[in-house]
Amino acid sequence: MTGLDKHPDKQLLLAFDAPRRGLPPTHLADLDTAGRRDAVAGLGEPAFRADQLSRHYFARLCADPATMTDLPAASRERLATALLPELASPLRHVECDGGATRKTLWRAGDGTLTESVLMRYPDRATVCISSQAGCGMACPFCATGQGGLTRNLSTAEIVDQVRAAAAAMRDGQLPGGPGRLSNVVFMGMGEPLANYRRVRDAVRRITAPAPEGLGLSQRSVTVSTVGLVPAIRKLADERMAVTLAVSLHTPDDELRDTLVPVNTRWPVAEVLAAARHYADVTGRRISIEYALIRDVNDQPWRADLLASLLRRHLGPRLVHVNLIPLNPTPGSEWDASPKPVEREFVRRVQAAGVSCTVRDTRGQEIAAACGQLAAEG
Ligand code: SAH
Repeated sequence: MTGLDKHPDKQLLLAFDAPRRGLPPTHLADLDTAGRRDAVAGLGEPAFRADQLSRHYFARLCADPATMTDLPAASRERLATALLPELASPLRHVECDGGATRKTLWRAGDGTLTESVLMRYPDRATVCISSQAGCGMACPFCATGQGGLTRNLSTAEIVDQVRAAAAAMRDGQLPGGPGRLSNVVFMGMGEPLANYRRVRDAVRRITAPAPEGLGLSQRSVTVSTVGLVPAIRKLADERMAVTLAVSLHTPDDELRDTLVPVNTRWPVAEVLAAARHYADVTGRRISIEYALIRDVNDQPWRADLLASLLRRHLGPRLVHVNLIPLNPTPGSEWDASPKPVEREFVRRVQAAGVSCTVRDTRGQEIAAACGQLAAEG
């Protein structure tokens, strides 16, 4: 990558108007109900075949045409070739937490590697999905950020990670027996709002009732962003009640310019104003992500500044701070903050009346921090 390619503005331009080049062929999950019927009609098949396919994929969570035996063999072949191209195959699974966390490394048809992580808790199951292969945002503490952007994922490639996770839960592939996938977080590889249209369509597919979509509730979907201000405002205007997570990581522009380089384009105040707009329009509380890095952003004064800034821009009822102990990436000199420092940080933010918790760190020993598995190949 050249320096220019690494510049956030250039990355955004590339990402915002990225053509379909390099993406897989159209898949059922790229299309809405009308689009599916049109596609099926275009193949000379009756429109109701689109609904049959949708039931298999979105309700039965099945992507294998061989099991779609209610379709006559000739039609099945034709429909599968045109609308169910294989998107990605699992290269390997890595488990930890006694099997309750399972990370999957996927290889797309063009060899692109992506990751998703399925986490089962007593009361819910969450899948963390990727929206791009690689990422152009270049945050220095993030493994994905180091490799640059490979390409956007298609809507179907995003949706299929959720379908696969929902099927794994239903089939009891994680200890605890059959269960239900309840939550989706866009916190895997990539900057979701730099692949705006495909991510928005994926959210629609994930949350539309079956068999139009996978039937998860909008509130159980979280889109996490570095803070692409115009895209945050656009997302607010879509009126989807998804949770917005903003990766702030520090309240001051000077440090944020280095931790989240796109801050040089949209500084903290603009990001928080956009987040406020999002909260006002959707009624949803904003989640502020803050990776605590030892001696970098964990000082008591930063906790105080963070709390006062959030109170001023969002008010105490519209914000929650999620502290993430830094998951050190290979070759980086940065480390997580010591526990007493972390506790003091939480105490100060809470003392200012802002809700704040430390994220549980699932999957540390399987390199589950953003991009680490794909980086290892
Ligand atoms: N691009 C989006 C989503 C991807 S990462 C975003 O930045 O929000 C999801 C979260 O994990 C982000 O808050 C990101 O900053 C954080 N993260 C990335 N690498 C990390 C690491 N090594 N340790 C802790 N958090 C990390």
